[in-house]
Amino acid sequence: MSLGRQELIELLGERDACTLEKLYARAYKVKVDNVGPEVYLRGLVEISNICRKNCLYCGIRRDNASAGRYELSVGEVLEAVRFAARSGYASVVLQGGERTDSAFISKISFLLEEISRIKCPDGGTLGVTLSLGEQAEEVYREWRAAGARRYLLRIESSTRELYEKIHPRDGLHSFGARMEALHALRRCGYQVGTGVMIGLPFQNEAHLADDLLFFKELDIDMCGMGPYIEHSMTPLYAFRSLLRPAPERLELSLKMVALLRMLMPDINIAATTAMQTLDPKGREKAILAGANVVMPNLTLSEVRKDYQIYQGKPGIEEDAAITSSGLEKALEDMKIPIGFNRWGDSLHYGKRNQSSDS
Ligand code: SAH
Repeated sequence: MSLGRQELIELLGERDACTLEKLYARAYKVKVDNVGPEVYLRGLVEISNICRKNCLYCGIRRDNASAGRYELSVGEVLEAVRFAARSGYASVVLQGGERTDSAFISKISFLLEEISRIKCPDGGTLGVTLSLGEQAEEVYREWRAAGARRYLLRIESSTRELYEKIHPRDGLHSFGARMEALHALRRCGYQVGTGVMIGLPFQNEAHLADDLLFFKELDIDMCGMGPYIEHSMTPLYAFRSLLRPAPERLELSLKMVALLRMLMPDINIAATTAMQTLDPKGREKAILAGANVVMPNLTLSEVRKDYQIYQGKPGIEEDAAITSSGLEKALEDMKIPIGFNRWGDSLHYGKRNQSSDS
C-alpha cells in the first residue's frame, strides 16, 4: 500500500476514536490476509544489564550507578531457553546491554551452539534472535554461523538530529555507526529487525512518519517498537514535562503498528512489553492493530528487577508462562490462534531469499 509522508503525518495525528478503530481493523485485515491469523511467541531472556553505552533514556545506561548489575550464567540462560522449548514457544530472544569484549562474544557463540542442541517437543530446534547492540561485522558473522537467525537493533530514531539529542556525544554513540550496523546484519544473512521509541521528548508526527518510511526503505523483516517510558535515573527524565500523557503515547504506538502493517504487509511486528507497561491490555490492542509477535519474558525473577530499561515493567510471575499470565486466555477469547511450536519466520525475509524454512 502506498501511503505518502503527508498522509502518514495526518494519520499519526488522528485522535478520533471511531476513525482509529477503522484504521486498526483495516490493518488487522491486512495482517490476516498476508501473514495469517496466528500470533507467534518468542521467549525473551534478558541475559545481562552490563552495558558500555550511556543512552540518555535507558535505565541500564552505564552511568546509572543505582542499577544492580548482573550477568546470567550459561546454565541460567539455558534453563530459561529450555522452559521456552518445553512451553512450545519455538523461538527465543537473547537481549542484553551492549558489550564487545571477547569473553562476552565467545560466551554468546557458546550459548548459541548449546541452544542449537535443545530439542522442542516436536523434535525441532529453536529459532534464535539476538538483541545485543552494535557489534563488528565479523562478530555478527560468527554469531550467525553459531546459529542466530534474527537480530533486533532499533535505530531508536531515523532522524539524525533526534538520535543525537537522545544519545551522548562521547564518540561511542554514532547515528552513522548504528545505521551501518543494520546494513552489516543484512550482509550477514540475518532476518533484520529494527524499531524506534514512540512519544520521545522532542519527537513529533513528522519524525515518526519518517521512521515508517525508513523501515520501508531499509526493507526490514521485523519491527519492534513501543512507547518511550521515562526512567527517573536517566538524563532524559529532565524533559518529562514535554511528554504526551501515557494513553496518548500508547495510542500513537498503536497507530505506528497499524500504519507499518499497511506499508509492509508481510513483515513480523511485535506487540512490545512497553505497550503492556502503559496498559495491561496494550499487547492485545497492538495485535488487533496488526502486530503478530509477542515476547513473553522468561528472565529469572531474582534479576528481573535489575533489567529496568524503563520503570514499571511487569513482574515475572505475570509472564513466563503465558497460561498463567492470562495472555493465552486473552488471545483465545479474541479467537486469535497462537503459533505454538512454529518459528514464525518473517515471510518478507523468506520471499526476499526465496526459501522459507520451518
Ligand atoms: N543493548 C541492546 C538492547 C537494548 S534494550 C541494543 O542496543 O539494541 C532494547 C530497547 O529498549 C532499546 O533498543 C530501546 O529502544 C528500548 N528502551 C530503552 N530505554 C527505554 C525507555 N526508557 N522507554 C522505552 N523503551 C526503551
